[in-house]
Amino acid sequence: MSDVIVLGGGCAGLATAIAAAVLGLEVTLLEAAPQLGGGTANSSGFLWVGANHLHAAAGGNDTPDAVRAYLTYAAAGAADPERLEAFATQAPEALRFFIAAGIPFRVSPRIDHYGMAPGAMAGGRILDTPPIDAAVLDAWAERVAVPAGPLHRLGGSEAVKLGGGNSQAAWDAALVLARESPGRRGAGAGLVTWLVGTALAQGVTLRVGTPAKRLLQEAGRVTGVVTASGERLHAKRGVVLASGGYESSAELVARFESLPGWQSMFPPSLQGDALPMAQEIGAAIHHIGNNLSVFLGFRNPEEAPDLCRLSGTAELVAPHTMVVNRAGRRFADESFFQAVAPALRAFDPARGEYPNLPAFLIFDADYAAGQSFAGRPPGAEIPDWVPRAATLEALAAQLGIDPAGLVAAAARFSADAAALHDSEYQRGDTPWGLSRLGPAATLGAIARAPFYGVELHPTALASAGLLADASARVRHVRGHAIPGLYAVGNAAARTETGAGYQTGYSLASGLTFGWLAAQDMARA
Ligand SMILES: Cc1cc2nc3c(=O)[nH]c(=O)nc-3n(C[C@H](O)[C@H](O)[C@H](O)COP(=O)(O)OP(=O)(O)OC[C@H]3O[C@@H](n4cnc5c(N)ncnc54)[C@H](O)[C@@H]3O)c2cc1C
Repeated sequence: MSDVIVLGGGCAGLATAIAAAVLGLEVTLLEAAPQLGGGTANSSGFLWVGANHLHAAAGGNDTPDAVRAYLTYAAAGAADPERLEAFATQAPEALRFFIAAGIPFRVSPRIDHYGMAPGAMAGGRILDTPPIDAAVLDAWAERVAVPAGPLHRLGGSEAVKLGGGNSQAAWDAALVLARESPGRRGAGAGLVTWLVGTALAQGVTLRVGTPAKRLLQEAGRVTGVVTASGERLHAKRGVVLASGGYESSAELVARFESLPGWQSMFPPSLQGDALPMAQEIGAAIHHIGNNLSVFLGFRNPEEAPDLCRLSGTAELVAPHTMVVNRAGRRFADESFFQAVAPALRAFDPARGEYPNLPAFLIFDADYAAGQSFAGRPPGAEIPDWVPRAATLEALAAQLGIDPAGLVAAAARFSADAAALHDSEYQRGDTPWGLSRLGPAATLGAIARAPFYGVELHPTALASAGLLADASARVRHVRGHAIPGLYAVGNAAARTETGAGYQTGYSLASGLTFGWLAAQDMARA
């Protein structure tokens, strides 16, 4: 019998398993899919850890108060103060712990999204892992997911060095060549490789293709799980739900999200299994109504046609692109995805429709000539599956957009680009991420044929999850913690960070609350 059973082989589950094993507990991790990695493998692999020791060692002047101020601003009133405090103060400790366990986190070039927030920092808080060769996992290399696309070969920091894929001047031929090495894993897939290697070294038992379906309980305490095949597995100290969100469950998405046309950016195994398993023994769930972890993306039939390829930090921030609705109108600062999210949820009661969904990415020949589309090298040919036309009117007809509206929007946007001021949505004025470089880096006329357009789909990190406390213990609907039951990562509601999204919150939360859960179980 194990001390601990962890459900889910993404960042949160693997981190919990490693921490529990380092603390001397015997751990079994069950993964539903045939491969480990979950949504974490699809990610860019960045972790946001305020006031961390790596930044301090490099001369950074971050403080816990600045971290609290930033987290509080971005949370938009939707955080649990105790969870926020635990995240602010314990994430740096968790980071030290996992570095000591053998994972070489390093400071990346990424910066805070909310540059206008009190406590924002222009660097030092976002970490990632260096690329790694999957051969270190021996036979387990085959059981770690690797998404299509260059990012997961290249690595997050390396991709940023290339200007986020959108700067031809910064495209580094040596890096491009390096990513062709077949075993190389970067970004989220690299992080998972580091985590799996460390878990195996710590003696964690890993089982893939083993979904858990029910919790076992004795005298109110969770004592184990029943798998889909009926196997009963017992745990002396606790069961940790690290099974991610419900982003690939059409039923739960329809129940909790108000975003027609939703497309998951995560693997099909993210069905929200933790919710019914815990709810049937009285667990509380929590919904963050104004969740801003909402993004726009498109289907790329060459990669994974059912997966939403995020566009928010690539095409949407680059010059010579804009996003319009069916009326052909822009509706937000495309370069600041937190500003796009509320506009996507807008509903027009007079017409009975969501005016900004579907949305469309529109770009022109100047974009195609110098920028990166769908992760291709800047200037590479735009693939055949992208609709195109010699005029904006003809493109609008193909996409089902009002032609007059599109022509008017492009004319105004082009004039604004020439004046380096977006008179409608101030694109480029928001001090965050790539567009922090100012309007010149993100504004560009849409005037040169051919014109291109693709439908964009809304996607998000789930708005609802299990209500957990500052030690990651799952709370009963009556308020008390359910003995022996923990939720970490996206299985838990994001009450430590609330509504806003900052690159790196999610993976850092998994690491931090996984570590806190492991400590709680070690003490039990
Ligand atoms: C393109 C992209 C880029 C991103 N970049 C970042 C980033 O840089 N930084 C960041 O913080 N976040 C990022 N995110 C978000 C981040 O990927 C997720 O929020 C995070 O990976 C969630 O981790 P997790 O461990 O909770 O869940 P997951 O990694 O999704 O793991 C959950 C696992 O549980 C398994 N599972 C499901 N049901 C069961 C069951 N019944 N029994 C056993 N196992 C089960 C699943 O198969 C899955 O493997 C990004 C997301 C995308 C799509």
